[in-house]
Amino acid sequence: MIVSGEWLLPVVGDPIRHGAVRITGSRIGEVGTFKALTRAYPNETTHDHPGCVIAPGLVNGHTHLSLSSMLGLLPPGEFSTWISNVAPAVQALDHDDFADAAAYGALECLRSGVTAVGDIAYGPEAPAAAADTGIGGVFFWELLGMTAEQLPEALSSRDFPTESVACGGRTLCGISPHTPYTAGPGLIQAGYAYARDHGYAFAIHAAESTAEARLLMAGEGPLRESAGRLAPDFVAPGTGTVRYLEHLGVLRDTIAVHCVQLMSGEPELLAAHARGVVLCPRSNRYLLNGKPPVAALIQAGVRLGLGTDSLASNETLDLFEEARELLTIDPGLSTTRTLEIMTLEGAQVLGIDRDYGSLESGKYADIIAVEVSDTNDPASALVREGSPARVRSVITGGVWRLLDGRMAFLTKEIEQRSARVTEKAARALRTR
Ligand SMILES: [Zn+2]
Repeated sequence: MIVSGEWLLPVVGDPIRHGAVRITGSRIGEVGTFKALTRAYPNETTHDHPGCVIAPGLVNGHTHLSLSSMLGLLPPGEFSTWISNVAPAVQALDHDDFADAAAYGALECLRSGVTAVGDIAYGPEAPAAAADTGIGGVFFWELLGMTAEQLPEALSSRDFPTESVACGGRTLCGISPHTPYTAGPGLIQAGYAYARDHGYAFAIHAAESTAEARLLMAGEGPLRESAGRLAPDFVAPGTGTVRYLEHLGVLRDTIAVHCVQLMSGEPELLAAHARGVVLCPRSNRYLLNGKPPVAALIQAGVRLGLGTDSLASNETLDLFEEARELLTIDPGLSTTRTLEIMTLEGAQVLGIDRDYGSLESGKYADIIAVEVSDTNDPASALVREGSPARVRSVITGGVWRLLDGRMAFLTKEIEQRSARVTEKAARALRTR
């Protein structure tokens, strides 16, 4: 099959006017002009998208799809209050609920042109439900509130795959100690060693809030109670989170999420050691955490991805909206770099750029068609005009998931199941 549009943005290389992709099975065969590909393969079926930009599927570098049913339950507000409120709602849900929520979250991702995620999960159920919709990426098992000694048992009881780095199909697995105040230094180091030994990706929420900075710098503030309960071996290092991770020996090749409250010299440490940073600017705004230092991170040479975080701290899983928030924070950022952050650079941060993030021969056929009104500058038009309403088609692994504005599979049951989970979480919040 040959899929084409007014413009094609391979992300590597120049935009191609009247460009097209030839799909062979789940992978991309060739990329070129519609004319050249139809001439070379006259018997292939074709599907054109007039007025659309064809681009690689977007990479949402940080999600909690298991929490997708929590939309609107927790109002925007101060971070440490929010995190103590979210806990009872999460604890009221079981793994079937997480799976139902994740299926809904995956659906919302596809509708906004996202085909791969860096997702935080509590076990195999939610990743499997998300993968069923066609979403790929990395699913990180979250670690918190346990000791280093409990780690092997915790991973095996939650069916963490030990045989291979693949969760199955188009997904990889990773490990993610939650934060420095919910996972002690022993657990962070044990999780890191396990990830390094077995070739898993390693991510951690880092430098998200001023409360976290206060805890690390001085051992005080609203997160002290949480650290005492969930990370009993934590001792305030008197540094920022990034330097703390470096001292623990766990910064090399790590994916650091948020990085809003950075201390002097920490952007350079991230550039030198970490695999990259996933920014979640709308979640940061929702939780009054401030704005990430985008210009300083870019200046230091940090590789960047972009994430929406969960629907418990954001209004949508729309990565285009997230990108426009980034451009508001750093108006000097080009739309070309922004698109890279949404695609190939984000895939590099997650370590999945061999398969995702650009339209190149051999990669997964993850392709989106987005309607734009301004076709003079397709990259700028895509970033500035993109929205779920304008995403016309989505293909993941060579399979249509959205075709000319209509989902290619039944969504009603997914939405109904998620609504039931929302009701359950809301009940838990009311009776807490
Ligand atoms: Zn998060």
